[in-house]
Amino acid sequence: DGASTPRAIGRLPSDVVNRVAAGEVIHRPSNALKELVENSLDAGAKSIAVTTREGGNKLLRVQDDGHGVRIEDLPLLCERHATSKIEKFEDLARCESFGFRGEALASMSYVAHVSATTMAAGATHATRATYTDGKMDAEGAKPIAGVLGTTISVENLFYNVVTRRKALKSASEEYSKVLEVLQRYAALRTDVAFTCRKHGESRATLHTPVAQSRVERLQAIYGPTVARDLKKLDFDSELSKKKFDFKLQVDGLVSGGNYHSKKTTFILFINSRLVECAPLKRACESVYAAILPKAEKPFVFMHLRLPFEDVDVNVHPTKQEVHFLHQEAIVELIQSKLEKILLATNSSRTFTVQT
Ligand code: ADP
Ligand code: MG
Repeated sequence: DGASTPRAIGRLPSDVVNRVAAGEVIHRPSNALKELVENSLDAGAKSIAVTTREGGNKLLRVQDDGHGVRIEDLPLLCERHATSKIEKFEDLARCESFGFRGEALASMSYVAHVSATTMAAGATHATRATYTDGKMDAEGAKPIAGVLGTTISVENLFYNVVTRRKALKSASEEYSKVLEVLQRYAALRTDVAFTCRKHGESRATLHTPVAQSRVERLQAIYGPTVARDLKKLDFDSELSKKKFDFKLQVDGLVSGGNYHSKKTTFILFINSRLVECAPLKRACESVYAAILPKAEKPFVFMHLRLPFEDVDVNVHPTKQEVHFLHQEAIVELIQSKLEKILLATNSSRTFTVQT
């Protein structure tokens, strides 16, 4: 004896495979929110309103005034790998919209109850449909009163995945993550109005009308203490070093020496995508650490534009950490510009440069 008899290999049913895969894309309400907001922005929305119940654990609803979905496309809305944004692999490289995988809504429908109400220009009424496991439910799409745009509701997240449901944090923790994601998109898209509210509360937590400037927008989001002391970190660069060339455009606002905070806020977009880049964050923090008293932490908003072909967007959906070409050189350049800007505004006596 010793070795036991092997067990038969069987194919898992596709809904099980998809549910497992979905749980890897969507961990918590804020992941779903990011996808929904990106879809609304892709649809050209100028106004995005988010409503939650229990921090998004029970309900996450995103209403937009974008171009809507054609009625005949509703059956495909939550189908895996169904998208209106690219048609062939080569399109990926030039893809400027957020979505490109046709994966987000499908994933949500495998781990939550998804419903959509939508109305496109020219339609006489809105249409509503509900979805389970990638498919539109049997009762089909129904006419309903509505306005132009799309509302997607995601309810009872992980109703069918106990382990994931148990891993969800408290309503207040999930809500603060949801809010943080929305605040960041609001920081970028000053041309779009955002609101975020808890269901049943009359006062919105976030309310930002269309803004004239980013400073004005940041004030609406983060309050006057942030907005009061922001410096521009704006430059275009075309560098030719020995081994490579790169093009880079930076549009940023960073706190100066009169800003007081115990924690770093580092908001980074690359080509309009919300991403993380640990080396860049560390580099910026080190500049501040050399200038600010120890306990003070900076506020940094930065939007980098790089040639599309230099940024790897074809990464796993949840991988927020981004990769781009010439990263080291770019980080170094931004760091030195930041240093110059902070030292130039150093007339204020609160700066104490350590040498
Ligand atoms: P992707 O964004 O990668 O295409 P999604 O699963 O996020 O995949 O969305 C699938 C499709 O549903 C999109 O390509 C788009 O056509 C449509 N869609 C989703 N959300 C919206 C929205 N808010 N407004 C208009 N169309 C939408
Ligand atoms: Mg999408």
